Amino acid sequence: MAFESLSDKLQNVFKKLKGKGRLTEADVKAALKEVKMALLEADVNFKVVKQFTKSVEERAVGTDVMNSLTPGQMVIKIVNEEMIKLMGSETTTLELNPRNELTIIMMAGLQGAGKTTTIAKLAGQLKVKNYSPLLVACDVYRPAAIKQLQINGEKQGVPVFSMGDGHSPVNIAKAAVEHAQKNGQNLILIDTAGRLHIDENMMDELTAIKEAVPVKQTLLVVDAMTGQDAVNVASTFNEKVGVDGIIITKMDGDTRGGAALSIRAVTGKPILYVGMGEKLSDLEQFYPDRMASRILG
Ligand code: GDP
Repeated sequence: MAFESLSDKLQNVFKKLKGKGRLTEADVKAALKEVKMALLEADVNFKVVKQFTKSVEERAVGTDVMNSLTPGQMVIKIVNEEMIKLMGSETTTLELNPRNELTIIMMAGLQGAGKTTTIAKLAGQLKVKNYSPLLVACDVYRPAAIKQLQINGEKQGVPVFSMGDGHSPVNIAKAAVEHAQKNGQNLILIDTAGRLHIDENMMDELTAIKEAVPVKQTLLVVDAMTGQDAVNVASTFNEKVGVDGIIITKMDGDTRGGAALSIRAVTGKPILYVGMGEKLSDLEQFYPDRMASRILG
């Protein structure tokens, strides 16, 4: 289960805090040290952990908390609030144009992150909201990727635009816009090529697509299981290509939680959705407060 170890450790710290009637500054500091260790072991970014514990300590070590009737509860409440802040406070939703205009969404991410699956999941959700999606196969390097998009599109009852592997992604994207306009589709979801590692060609290709067609949102798909690598990938994509939102997949697995807890603070970009399974219905809007509750138990 995701966050299992982190949750267990934090709950232990909280139990000790609640067990004490009064708290001294040393008690709070000792508890925060344990919180810090637990976050680091969950693979949360080091700088993020430092800032987080500093913010909690500034609020928790004070007469208001120490003299309150339930100081332990107060500290826990502060940890909860700061954790929500860390993940962006508010829920950020996908930006779309009005339905009478075309919206283009470009999906990016490393190979295996879950891009193709997530596109189909998202298309399904937006179809229900009366958008008419067209999935566009711009991963021209892996015939299997085109095939997979077609299979997923079929499952969702959403058309897929493909020109095989003999055209450039830029030309495919441009042709897809014409196709959508002719066929009354108002939402284009572009599946782009993912490599095993970040490389310049991949970045250049994404930038070229963005220059060729009016992309409304660039969404980055990252795998929660890859921890800090996911955070580094997000930083690089954001610097080189520009990212509007992040989707973290495989949150149904036993991820330690580092990516979900660090990515917003490190990149400044919001998490929009989380992937919760392989089924095409397993995509959820991201709520920072609900995620914090899951972690803190
Ligand atoms: P792509 O290379 O980025 O297009 O990745 P795919 O969409 O092909 O996904 C790679 C693998 O991850 C596939 O086996 C998917 O079923 C799986 N996958 C994608 N999203 C999730 C998720 O949220 N949870 C789980 N458990 N598996 C996922």
